[in-house]
Amino acid sequence: MKPSRPASPLLPHVSVSETASLKRDEEFWFEDGNLILVAGDVEFRVYQGPLIAHSPVFNDMLSLPQPAEDSGRRTRHGESSCPIIPLTDSPEDLRHFLRVFVSSSSGKIIRSGQHDPTFHEVSACVRLGHKYQVDGLVQRYVDLLRKYYADNFDAWYRSTLVRPPSFQAVHSIAVVNLARLTNTPSMLPTALMDCCTLGPEIVDGLVREDGTRETLPLDDLGRCFVGRAKMAQASARIAHLMFRPPVSAACRQPACCQRVLQRLLNELGNARDDVISCVDWYASWMVYVDGRDEDRELCMRCYKMLEGERPKKLQREVWMSLPAMMGVTVEGWGIKAKQES
Ligand SMILES: [Zn+2]
Repeated sequence: MKPSRPASPLLPHVSVSETASLKRDEEFWFEDGNLILVAGDVEFRVYQGPLIAHSPVFNDMLSLPQPAEDSGRRTRHGESSCPIIPLTDSPEDLRHFLRVFVSSSSGKIIRSGQHDPTFHEVSACVRLGHKYQVDGLVQRYVDLLRKYYADNFDAWYRSTLVRPPSFQAVHSIAVVNLARLTNTPSMLPTALMDCCTLGPEIVDGLVREDGTRETLPLDDLGRCFVGRAKMAQASARIAHLMFRPPVSAACRQPACCQRVLQRLLNELGNARDDVISCVDWYASWMVYVDGRDEDRELCMRCYKMLEGERPKKLQREVWMSLPAMMGVTVEGWGIKAKQES
């Protein structure tokens, strides 16, 4: 740990009564800490060094002598070397943020190598990392999000998950907001697309740990309204192209397989609407195929074609226009996708 800077002698004092209603955080209260952060009604006593080293904002707050009338930075009686900084963050958010810099005072090791972060951890660390200009922290979590909210078709197609394992669909609302906050437009098409799969909660938004509600801005809500219809259209388009000729180039019984493909195409009319025009245009068709070719007349080559190469080709075409479907512009989206193929 880097040595902390001495507190400014100009710090004004605050009476104990002003802070009497505050409670000490159970996770972050180091008796020898040299900085008290106040978030909501919780005090965190930590070390200045790591915050100063990683955050230009904390560096500025703690290194510049403050005018005596500035109540934003104070020390308490008997703790003259310990500035108190009130923050506007919630205690829950601040706890996630502090865990990046220090293990808890209760001795529990918080960070040990790879872990699968919760939505709340990711959200808090990106928002507070951005606010306090801890660029490396923001980048770490944005990189993690970009693995799922990808701009690379092949990576996205390979992944069996459309969002991090600990995330729920409603959390994609926050991912849209984080993409905007961090100026990462490449995450917007897939994050908005995930929002389009939501029901009424697309309006209600999600509840953060501190009880506040996070929603989509109205213009993004409008994008989802349009995007959802476009996703259903993409599904319908894929449905009508999936079973067209030709059969697989490697098919050894083309007449038979052609007949089955034709049947699969004809029976689309009898399929449920949510099969043909489901919002998730990337869903597999194999339940539909298996249900209509129970005796497995399709040869293995044609079956594999319907399972893999044909939907992949059709989905790639949809993917290319995904930013337009979602009403956003992403520099290099199409070019990148072309280079991959
Ligand atoms: Zn075949």
